[in-house]
Amino acid sequence: MSISRREFLGAGATAAVGVALAGPAQAESVIVSGVSPALRRLADNRPAIISSANGIRGVAKAREMMLSGADPLDAAIAGVNIQELDPSDHSVGLGGLPNEDGVVQLDASCMHGPTRRAGAVGALEDIATPSLVAKAVMDYTDHIFLVGAGAKRFALEMGFKEQNLLTDEARQIWLKWKANHDSNDAWLDHDDDVKIAFTHGTINMNAVTASGDIGSVTTTSGMSYKIPGRVGDSAIVGAGQYCDNDVGAAGSTGRGEANIKIAGAFFVVEQMRGGASPEEACLRALQRAIQMTESRLLDERKRPRYDLTYYAIAKDGRYGSANIYEHLQFAIADARGARLESCAYLFTDSERPRGAVPMHTLTH
Ligand code: ASP
Repeated sequence: MSISRREFLGAGATAAVGVALAGPAQAESVIVSGVSPALRRLADNRPAIISSANGIRGVAKAREMMLSGADPLDAAIAGVNIQELDPSDHSVGLGGLPNEDGVVQLDASCMHGPTRRAGAVGALEDIATPSLVAKAVMDYTDHIFLVGAGAKRFALEMGFKEQNLLTDEARQIWLKWKANHDSNDAWLDHDDDVKIAFTHGTINMNAVTASGDIGSVTTTSGMSYKIPGRVGDSAIVGAGQYCDNDVGAAGSTGRGEANIKIAGAFFVVEQMRGGASPEEACLRALQRAIQMTESRLLDERKRPRYDLTYYAIAKDGRYGSANIYEHLQFAIADARGARLESCAYLFTDSERPRGAVPMHTLTH
């Protein structure tokens, strides 16, 4: 007796068949995790924390803290603080790559699910932990978002330490960029050993406790060599991160300009509210971001010349992440420990536009 694919699926085909038929995006995450989305739903894996791959140490720490009863936002912020204070991560905090003037300007935002509050800072200078300043805005003011000089003054009033965030290494990379980006200027190339690094690169972390309380945070030095004063998606509640204690949380890394236009983190959470799995919600947000992309950033096949990634966690501990192109990982810590898994994706590497300038390389 033969059976059509449609009948077979209708008869309750298992996740293994889903791997074969679901297309690259879904297959990838199923294979790598070894657990189908359906099974993920059954086993309670909380507390659980998802983040960009650079948060692999942070998710482990956040989970430890939540196992000891920590608040989900406190745990997530402690997780991202590791990267903010690590001078070798050039996408965040101390050691972040500077703007075009050589000044490190940081963006961060956070949300606390149980109390439905939010805080954010944009273009903050000289304070290594903007995530904590964002939380201080949330905790100690009637406002949500402080920027620039006002944000710094507030941070100093709150007792944060002022420090030079431009490390020698980041300054060398910036000088090399300055010397190279215009062959008609007066800057001579100074050191062949230094590689110019471009970042997008950021850390987003979303945490859910054993009882289903949620917190989310995103922190970044933003797009390297940006125009001074540029604020990206990380600082914008609803774009760089969003959390609704009834549903879940989401956040992003990658080209902020593409994400802001679709209020991406909010979009992902709303998709989950409507029943999408975290991974499916992330994929839908990527599709929407591409639909909203201006043509100068698309190749002739409508493939973006940038990268963008979403990370999402549901109240019940299901999680997922998706990137536009393949070969990106995210960090997850849950009952099975802390590990990296592969993001779902829309396009294979061979579909990347040829000759596209790599728009972020350090953490992606
Ligand atoms: N999303 C950040 C920004 O656009 C940077 C990044 O994650 O790459 O500022």
